[in-house]
Order: sequence, then structure tokens, then C-alpha cells
Amino acid sequence: MKNYMKMSQLYAPTLKEDPSEAELASHRLLLRAGMIRKTAAGLYSYLPLAWRSLLKIENVIREEMDAIGAQEILVPMVVPGEIWQESGRWDVYGPELLRLKDRHGRDFVVGPTHEETFVDLVRNELRSYKQLPVTLYQIQDKFRDEMRPRFGLMRGREFIMKDAYSFDATVEGMQKSYDEQKAAYARICERCGLRALPVVADSGQIGGDTSVEYMALADAGEAELVWCDCDYAADVEAACVGIEVEEGPGTTCERIETPCEGSIASLAQFMGISEKACRKSFAIIAEDGTPVLCLLPGDHELNEVKAEHAFGHYDVMDEEQMAKYGLVKGYMGPIGADERVRVVADTSLRDSKSWLVGANEAGYHIKGACPGRDFTVNEWIDLASAKEGDACPHCGKPLHGARGIEVSQVFQLGTKYSDAMGATFMDEDGVEKPFQMGCYGIGVSRTLAAVVEQHHDEHGIIFPVCVAPFEVEVVPLDIKGEVWEAADRIANELVDAGIEVVVDNRKERPGVKFNDADLMGFPYQVVCGKRGIKDGTVEVKERATGQREDVAIADVVPYLAEKVIAQRK
Ligand code: ATP
Ligand code: MG
Repeated sequence: MKNYMKMSQLYAPTLKEDPSEAELASHRLLLRAGMIRKTAAGLYSYLPLAWRSLLKIENVIREEMDAIGAQEILVPMVVPGEIWQESGRWDVYGPELLRLKDRHGRDFVVGPTHEETFVDLVRNELRSYKQLPVTLYQIQDKFRDEMRPRFGLMRGREFIMKDAYSFDATVEGMQKSYDEQKAAYARICERCGLRALPVVADSGQIGGDTSVEYMALADAGEAELVWCDCDYAADVEAACVGIEVEEGPGTTCERIETPCEGSIASLAQFMGISEKACRKSFAIIAEDGTPVLCLLPGDHELNEVKAEHAFGHYDVMDEEQMAKYGLVKGYMGPIGADERVRVVADTSLRDSKSWLVGANEAGYHIKGACPGRDFTVNEWIDLASAKEGDACPHCGKPLHGARGIEVSQVFQLGTKYSDAMGATFMDEDGVEKPFQMGCYGIGVSRTLAAVVEQHHDEHGIIFPVCVAPFEVEVVPLDIKGEVWEAADRIANELVDAGIEVVVDNRKERPGVKFNDADLMGFPYQVVCGKRGIKDGTVEVKERATGQREDVAIADVVPYLAEKVIAQRK
């Protein structure tokens, strides 16, 4: 027999004050509502309310995975070092990887992700094309020794991840598995109440060639995005957009005095032109030691990820290095720089003939400089970060800007791991071939944080029904007599109707109960007070809208059951 949860017994130690270490709403509210507690930096315990929400998220994931034929398993969290050596990641994965030795001195890692383990698991037993495709997944704790664990569950060191791996015989098969996972991931976000965009991503550490990240839109998100009404969306680091460039003033190359601070904004203001009509310079030292001057449209920034692709691990030049190469801080430009400096310009500038650039002399710029005539551009590369207002690469309309939290990511891996680890199957033509793989990860604990980030107000969390720890809270304003009896009866009937109920049976003032109810964010509150009970009514408050309604006691159970069940998805 099911029972309701009594608030007096619920282990949810709430906090009256905002914890000082919490910058993000989700971090602050999960702590304040008594849902999580920190054990050490990036290590959190999930208390009953958080655990109930996490199990709901996990079950949404399970249903969606099962629906596309993926099978749940569980592999060890601790992974033998040998298979990480085999894949080659032992040497390239940085200090995020927690390495350990057992009593025999053998190497192990605590899995930050499990490609190696899954490949090792299937490589000797999935033998024939007839057995393919296969997708396996697990829901498990991962460990990454993040440099800056922060924001509570958002960036932990130990966190819950669902990770899936698909094994196919052909590239087309892999594409299909990938597409199915991608579609399932969209449904998972939606069912968890997240507004998320699939964005084209940089493939990152796991590698592979095609990848999408689901970004939950939130001002607190770490990722900077651009998106378009036509459905295009991309990380500013991966986006290749159309940048509108303006010509600088004049067409003849001329040195001019510019007694302004060495910033583009002040230069544009002094000249009475837009920042777009200026050219911005960044001086770096490429990984191979080459000094490079990067030229960009004045209103755009150098994109670090694109720059790393082009120049490897580069360093920004310090003033001493600048001086060595004839560059002057605040007044840098291609003209007058040392001839060892390689000049690289953003592709958006290719058709522009009049550039306003620094003169490599404090207080002076050069206007009307023309590439090919007055200086040489050694190479044209896409280097600029996309931003709001740039043109959508699909439809040309101006893009919107937004910030996002990466809640999940899907990758096509191809044969990266199967090649490295010799994981092959016998194909129809009798030839041994490596598996075509995909991998798919969802941050389960981060999803909970993202849900809170998207659904809260100044009073607390506003859980969508699908991930709420309890669906209804009954709040009796008196814990004895007829008020209590009515509350107890309603709560029991709600439980019988299949609703998850908590009853605030504490001997507390109404204000305390209301505050806690709003803080914990259960979707519906049923307030039972003396006056209402006399008239045969209770007050139902919807947390999301704040709307209150008097409902006849006789009707309240079917009334709530209908609302709650409709929103379970
Ligand atoms: P990030 O860029 O945020 O560090 P990632 O791209 O390295 O994440 P993946 O390897 O794609 O992460 O892992 C799959 C999912 O696991 C991510 O989409 C994210 O939701 C979650 N995740 C990754 N790192 C963390 C972390 N430190 N804390 C909580 N969740 C995480
Ligand atoms: Mg990722």
C-alpha cells in the first residue's frame, strides 16, 4: 500500500539564507530546498527530493532508449588502464582523468566516459554483420577532475551520465543509429520540460566527425549560441556565418593621427564610423613559434577554438614580443610590422578594399589600406566568433544570440575506436571490418540543474510535473481536528489516484509552510484551512502561475488527478 510522505519525516534540510558559494539559481535553490549537499568540491550527495527527480529523468531516458531498441547495461566505473592505452587516450587525456593503481600496481582510471569499455566488451562477441546494429547504454556516475568544478550539479567532478554506444556495419547504419539517438534526445529534453536547441558542435575531446549538442537555453549557460527562426543553431565557436563588413573611410593609403584610446570603440567614435568599418588586430605566437597577426572585422572577436584549429596551442603576444616584431599595442596593423610576422585575415574581409588599421605607432592609424596593394595577407581563414545579427548560413536572416547549458551531445565516431582497438566483425562479403560507431551522452544530474535554471522564480523552484519530486503538496493549516482530518483524507485519496503526495504535517506557522512549499516547487499545493473546510472547500494553488482556486472537497481529487496526469508526458 502506498502512503503519502510526511514533511516532518522528509529528509530535506532547507536553508533560510542564500548559501554564499552559490552563484547560479539552480545551485542556490537545490541547496536551499534541501535537495543536495556538498561533500567536497564538485562532489554532491543527492538527498531524497533530488533523487526522486533524478529517477524520473532517468526513467524518461530509459523509455526513450528502449523505444529505439537500445539496451541498458552497467559496466564497471573503474576501467583498466590498458584499454585506455590501446585507444591512445591514456596519453592525451589531461589531468581531468583520475588515474589510480591497485594493490598490484596495475593502472586504472575512473571512467570519465566509456568508449573503451564498451568496445572491449563487444569486440570478441559481436562477430557477424548479422548481429548488427547494436546499441548499448548505461546510466552511471562519471568522474572528471574538472579544473573548476562549480555551479553545483552543473559542473561537478562526479556526476550522473547516461552514455550510449552504437555499433553498426556500415556508415549508413551509423547515420541511422545517430539520427535515432538525436531524435530521442530531443524528446527527452522536451519531456523533462527543457527548452533546448540542437546545435552543431565542435567535436571536442571524444572526437568523431559529426556532432550535435542539445543546449538548454538559460542566461546562466556557459555556451554562447546563435540561432535562427529557420531552425539553424550553432555554438559561436562552430558557426560559420555571414559577416557583414563595411569599408573603411577613403581609398588611398594614408597615415592619420588618431589621438584616442587604443580600442576599436574609441577609434570608431573618433572617426565617426561604425566598428564594422574598422579592422581589429590580434597578435599571437602559433604553436610552431610563428608570430601571427590576425585581422578581423572591428565588431568581431577572435574565436579561440577556430584559432586553435588554425594555429595549434597558441599564446597571445606580450608587449615585449610585440616590440620585437614591430607591433604597437592598441595601434597594431599589418603595415610596418616585422617581415617575419605572418598576416592572416578573416575570410569575411576578402572582398574589402579599404581597411582602417593600426600604424604600429602610438596615436596613429592608416586608412584606405588595400590588401594586395599596400600589404600582403598570407592567408584567409574563418577566425571570427559568430554573434547576434550575423547572417544565418542557411537562410541569410539575422541570427539571434542566446546562452545555453549543454545537457547532452551525440557524436558519430566512425571507426576511431574500433580501429584503434581492433574491434572488427565479419561482413557479408567475408571481410573483417571495424565497427562504425556512435556515442551519445546525457548529463542526468546536469539536466536536473538545467530544469531548475529554466523553471524558478524569486520564491523557489517551479518543477514541471514530469520531473517534480512530488506532484502535490497538501498544506493543512491546522494539524488536528477537522482540518487535519480533511487534509489526511484528501492526501490518501490522491495517493489512491496514483498521485505523488507530500503533506506538511509540521507544527509550523502557515507562512513557514507556504514558503517551503514554494521553495521546493511542487506543481500543486492544496491548502486546507478552517474557513474553507466549513464551506466544504480547499484552495488549490498552481505553483507555476500562482493561480489560486477554491475547489469543493468532493471534487479536488479528480480535479488534480486530471491536471497532473495530463502533464506527466
Ligand atoms: P562540457 O563541455 O560542459 O565540459 P563535455 O562536452 O565535456 O561537457 P560530454 O563528454 O559531451 O561533456 O559528456 C556528455 C554530457 O555529460 C554533457 O553533455 C553534460 O551534460 C554532462 N557533463 C559533462 N561534464 C559534466 C560535469 N563536469 N558535470 C556535470 N555534467 C557533465
Ligand atoms: Mg559535450
